[in-house]
Amino acid sequence: MSDCLFCNIASGAIASGKVFEDDDVFAFKDIHPKAPTHVLVIPKIHIATLADCDNPAMLGMLMDRVRMIADDVLHLAAGYRVVINVREGGGQEVFHLHIHILGGKKLPF
Ligand code: 5GP
Ligand code: ZN
Repeated sequence: MSDCLFCNIASGAIASGKVFEDDDVFAFKDIHPKAPTHVLVIPKIHIATLADCDNPAMLGMLMDRVRMIADDVLHLAAGYRVVINVREGGGQEVFHLHIHILGGKKLPF
């Protein structure tokens, strides 16, 4: 979607702090980090919210990439938190599905 911020980040049309990319996903640093490490993982295809995705293979692929990026790219061996905000009530501000990876310190509940 040409008017979607995260589609434009995934395509490279808008610059971001890329940390990982493959055929399926793009991962980049959050512009307002809430932890020492705060990375967003997005599918390259436009899916507005988690609630709009009924494809188990897609959701499994995304979680597998999150696990791999946290371990192999971000080296968060001590642990990390995974967050998906869903729709306005869940605090979602950008309507392109994204998974937050937060780490780099002991996170309070
Ligand atoms: P949400 O609240 O939708 O789950 O999270 C959206 C996240 O995207 C926020 O943490 C926000 O800081 C981040 N964000 C918003 N605009 C940009 C941007 O232009 N570049 C980057 N790298 N992150 C952004
Ligand atoms: Zn999009």
